[in-house]
Amino acid sequence: MSPNSELQTQLDEASRDYEEFASRGLKLDITRGKPSPEQLDLAGDLLTAVTADDVITPSGVDARNYGGLEGLVELREIFAPLLKIPTDQLLAGGNASLTFMAQALTFATMHGTAADDRPWGEGPRKLLCPVPGYDRHFALTESLGFELLSIPMDEEGPVIAEAQRLAEDASVKGMWLVPMYSNPTGITISPKRAAKLAAMPAAASDFTLLWDNAYGVHHLRDEHVENIDILNLCAEAGNPERPWIFASTSKITLAGAGVSFFGGGPLSVDWMKTNLGKISIGPDKVNQLRHVRFFGDSAGVEAHMRKHAEIIAPKFDAVLDALESAFGDSDLARWTRPDGGYFITLTTMEGIADRVVKLAAEAGVKLTPAGATHPYGLDPANNVIRIAPTMPVLEEVELAAQGLVACLKLASYEKLLAG
Ligand code: PMP
Repeated sequence: MSPNSELQTQLDEASRDYEEFASRGLKLDITRGKPSPEQLDLAGDLLTAVTADDVITPSGVDARNYGGLEGLVELREIFAPLLKIPTDQLLAGGNASLTFMAQALTFATMHGTAADDRPWGEGPRKLLCPVPGYDRHFALTESLGFELLSIPMDEEGPVIAEAQRLAEDASVKGMWLVPMYSNPTGITISPKRAAKLAAMPAAASDFTLLWDNAYGVHHLRDEHVENIDILNLCAEAGNPERPWIFASTSKITLAGAGVSFFGGGPLSVDWMKTNLGKISIGPDKVNQLRHVRFFGDSAGVEAHMRKHAEIIAPKFDAVLDALESAFGDSDLARWTRPDGGYFITLTTMEGIADRVVKLAAEAGVKLTPAGATHPYGLDPANNVIRIAPTMPVLEEVELAAQGLVACLKLASYEKLLAG
């Protein structure tokens, strides 16, 4: 058989599989990294952890009243060792770490930072964005007037030579990073790469690592790497105020009603408190007290995360197994095999990610729009697809993975045959 007629046969077969899948009329969604209802149920006791006659914190604070801008000390003590941040350099806030990110960036734009009081908003401002990355990071900083500069990632994190070259421009104010189980690749930054980021020369005196540790305790496997002590690495490199660390319990307790954290160098934490004091009299301490009682201690958080892993690891495995059995011995696709977090990144042949997403939508499988993983929604190679397997039940994830395989085969053979 000529190579072309062999390809035509494969295309015909892929087409039949696709039509067969589409004819089932399914409605599946693996777009957003949301916890499933079953995961949210794990935090059921949170909702009754504070009652009307039991509102005083262990250190004697009435959780109902104003005040305590830094958040309950007991909650900060639970998360400090997990996040590798000293308790007095850790603030606990409201339900969204994205809000802490928006606040810190807005304060810097309006008033400058702890390391340099010249407002970022006075001149052009740019941010380094390792790609693929998190669409909400990009949307937030684009809306605040930053120009977004993509930089490539390898298996240890962002490529330093490129970051360093771009950081020679003083209008480059910082860099987005998701250090553990990144959104969307699942890649974890290596300790060596983190040390380089901590010490990297930069023209801006307040070049900042936006260290979004959203998945720092979200391990899928019993054996796992440790969080990196980025504060210490930066302090040792003579850049103590370089990292701003963000985290939350959105994917630990309740995605819409968790607590968030901000950590940084001693001056940055004071700076954040001063600025926060202008816009709030204090966070929701009732919810923070619920979390203190629910977890008890740091080991309580880790035990809770193991229950999440039991629910979501099989969903990750369902997608990985489907990809492996369909493409394991071909070079039509590559994908990441995360040990934690919420996402798998699938890399297709160049130029077909949007076609795969469209085919999937027409066959009843909703995927994150192609391009969402890149600044301005533009993936120049059009080959990255983010897969979020946590939300649907396992049977639906299995079906969605089957559908994805059918779409990817069809789009790949179409492309190969088109030459
Ligand atoms: N950062 C990353 C990397 C995320 O993936 C997410 C959720 N998808 C968030 C932040 C949002 O966190 P929060 O709910 O605390 O605002």
